[in-house]
Amino acid sequence: LAIGDELLAGAHPDLNSPRISRALAEVGWRVYRVAVVGDRVDDITSRVLELCSDHDLVLVSGGLGPTLDDLTREAVARAAGLPLVEHADTVDQIRGWFEDRGREMPASNLRQALFPEGAEVLANKRGTAPGFTLAVGGTRLFVLPGPPREMEGVLLEEVVPRVRDDGATPSPRRRFFLTGLSESAFADAAGDWMGREAMPRMGVTAKMAVLCVHLTLDPPATEDALEERAAAFRERFGHWIFSESTPDLGQVVGELLLATGTEIALAESCTGGLVAAALTAVPGISRVFREGVVTYSDAAKISRLGVDPEVIDRCGAVSAEVAAAMAKGCARTADVPLGLSVTGIAGPGGGTPEKPVGLIWYGLHLWDQTGGQTRTFERRFPARGRAQVREFATQAALGLLWRVLQGSPEGGIDRADPISPAIDPPPGLR
Ligand code: ATP
Ligand code: MG
Repeated sequence: LAIGDELLAGAHPDLNSPRISRALAEVGWRVYRVAVVGDRVDDITSRVLELCSDHDLVLVSGGLGPTLDDLTREAVARAAGLPLVEHADTVDQIRGWFEDRGREMPASNLRQALFPEGAEVLANKRGTAPGFTLAVGGTRLFVLPGPPREMEGVLLEEVVPRVRDDGATPSPRRRFFLTGLSESAFADAAGDWMGREAMPRMGVTAKMAVLCVHLTLDPPATEDALEERAAAFRERFGHWIFSESTPDLGQVVGELLLATGTEIALAESCTGGLVAAALTAVPGISRVFREGVVTYSDAAKISRLGVDPEVIDRCGAVSAEVAAAMAKGCARTADVPLGLSVTGIAGPGGGTPEKPVGLIWYGLHLWDQTGGQTRTFERRFPARGRAQVREFATQAALGLLWRVLQGSPEGGIDRADPISPAIDPPPGLR
């Protein structure tokens, strides 16, 4: 139960509940309900009672602060039918917290030392408001501070150790992250692996250019069944699996660039530097990331990258020809073996029937002494908002880089076949 008017108003997303759900899942608790309620004592009390009436475990976050609008402790005491009593050790701790910072404790902070009688106090190392836990009927109730950093500390250090042993054995599962494959092409290729009766169960979620596939096992199926399906899955989809641990394509690509020592330069138009941002988020990337330019105007494409103005006039700035020239230009000026360009129509304006919003062209240039070679790729992500088009264009760019870095068995660039022709469309799937 997340508490706070600002959560209801949409001013802040509820970050605590998803964090709590993940931590509980890891120790085998299944979350059945997430609720949000405003800062009103009656609402909090009735919601706590309702949740406690039909669940074994209830976690509440928010409203433990020192101010009068922080009502959770009163509401929980009321739900439990207990008076609030001052906890002397906590008073000392809060006073100490302020003393450590050279400040005097404001009187209002004393409210944070009030707990329902008999509650166990949960230490909060990251702030002044401790959490607490008590039983309400047969339900274990945990109450945690609202600020996500403090909540997480109390959750991991105080709550998880107390509930770990009562959770079920977590369902064994595997995750795969794929790129270069649409959700529907995936579903066709997965066939009855995705059926409702299938065991292990297979679920897929798509976010931009990345598919996340889960395999989950329900008892009494054995872990062998999971391993067997996972092996078959790798066999069938290995061409598109970029990770079994993270959905972060930027990180995977950055690490591949580092592992293969491939220096890269970027020329971005419609993504405005988002590809560079994704790659430079990877620690140590300066060894291989040479530079990225945002050449937004035609003039910049001409002056920075040497794109021929005649080509822009003839083909338009969003075209295979300009993408190719941008890729070549950035690899040459930076004097690196790999150049990637992105040019597209992010919208909302600027689209035409032939070149709609969501059309993106990529250029990849593999530079060498003999002049190198350039390939271009088209992607379409129609009928979406500007932010989504840019995000998709970024992810798809990283997907192309990942593919090119798969080129040779050693994981370096295979100049003879820089990109498997199979990438678009996937072989045997369309
Ligand atoms: P404080 O001592 O800071 O008042 P608190 O326990 O009373 O802590 P709140 O007053 O509910 O907590 O919230 C404090 C801050 O934490 C606010 O900025 C609030 O937006 C944020 N916060 C509270 N609950 C959540 C939540 N579920 N998700 C994200 N942020 C939250
Ligand atoms: Mg508060």
